[in-house]
Amino acid sequence: MKTTVDVQGIIQQAEAALAESVWPRLEETGQVTFNRVLDAFLRHKVGSEHFTGVTGYGHDDLGRATLDKVFADTMQAEAAIVRPQFVSGTHAISVALNGCLSSGDVMLSITGHPYDTLEEVIGLRGDSARSLKNQGVIYREISVFDENHQVRTTFAESQAEAIRQARMIYIQRSRGYSFRPTLSIGQIEILIQSARTINPNAIVMVDNCYGEFTEADEPPAVGADLIAGSLIKNPGGGIVPAGGYVAGRADLVSSAADALTCPGVGDKGGYMFDLTRLMLQGLFLAPGMVKEAMKSMTLAARVFEHLGYETAPAADADSRGDIIQIIRLHDPEKLIAFCKTLQSVSPVDSAITPIPAVVPGYADQVVMAGGTFIEGSTIELSADGPLRPPYAVFLQGGLTVAHTRYFLERFLAAHEC
Ligand SMILES: *Cc1c(COP(=O)(O)O)cnc(C)c1O
Repeated sequence: MKTTVDVQGIIQQAEAALAESVWPRLEETGQVTFNRVLDAFLRHKVGSEHFTGVTGYGHDDLGRATLDKVFADTMQAEAAIVRPQFVSGTHAISVALNGCLSSGDVMLSITGHPYDTLEEVIGLRGDSARSLKNQGVIYREISVFDENHQVRTTFAESQAEAIRQARMIYIQRSRGYSFRPTLSIGQIEILIQSARTINPNAIVMVDNCYGEFTEADEPPAVGADLIAGSLIKNPGGGIVPAGGYVAGRADLVSSAADALTCPGVGDKGGYMFDLTRLMLQGLFLAPGMVKEAMKSMTLAARVFEHLGYETAPAADADSRGDIIQIIRLHDPEKLIAFCKTLQSVSPVDSAITPIPAVVPGYADQVVMAGGTFIEGSTIELSADGPLRPPYAVFLQGGLTVAHTRYFLERFLAAHEC
């Protein structure tokens, strides 16, 4: 298939429009978040002496302690633990939940069904004896989203009753891979405030995956007690090979540290495998990388909107609380072609051809593209989508706008859109 459209013209037009409207805002957010990161480096006097870790038990590792403090300040939190021992974002969230919840406690999700991989952690799927449910934690969910995916910031009486009984109120910031919108920090603030008027004592935990540095403030600044996330997404800046973090109130972070290691060790032990420098450098780069990713997503959105496709969020959306872009392609062949082209212009594994396959946990086949330096990293340009209507592609990341532009040029030149 050969295109009839002026590819260069469309992309240039999109960039010109974005440069007038959305990109200055993204630049501004990027500067605010970068300033906060650098201020934390200066405040805690990061030095080259922090780059060498302590082997064995890892006791008195000044670098690890400094990384924790810098990260905490960056997340506007009292304390943080940043560790390569966190296997993934799911693991960091699981550790945070296990650290805070005991038998008889009610965990209440107010953003509906949580991210897929948390189903087994909670006990909604599988039968692990170590799921929260099988440890006696009571899980409930309500949703602040209505049928039209709009956010309701006041609670109905039945919802208020559920909030009253909760030990933990759980909020997922990013849409993940669902069609509900991503929550803005402003919305999270209002939700936390209204929940607190009903139950001032509940722990408010936010799944912060994909959200870091997309807005000027992080959830702890608007009242979240605890957040967790992955270092192969936003806060690793594209260069950290593994790990996760938990940040928030000092007592809760300490409980999470006990759950990650053991009581008595907590955050005071754990070899860093020479990753402290890389984690600090990744954090230093992260605001810029996230800005590039958000510019990339707005560029893709704008181009496909121009061609008549539905996107979410829209290119000119007021806020963008994560680095995911949905484009409804309405055609299985186009979805597959999108992923094939993306893979073919990836810096790594460009010779691999993605084909749709069944993925555990999904009812439909899924096609994925991700030729990334870090396996599974989604701050790097990647895409996937289930083969079912509306054949939406979930595009995410992009360490440089240049890469995204290169991809868009290739895709539009080769396919009729
Ligand atoms: C990515 C993500 C997670 C955690 O996923 P991992 O692949 O385990 O790091 C959790 N919640 C949301 C919303 C996510 O996007």
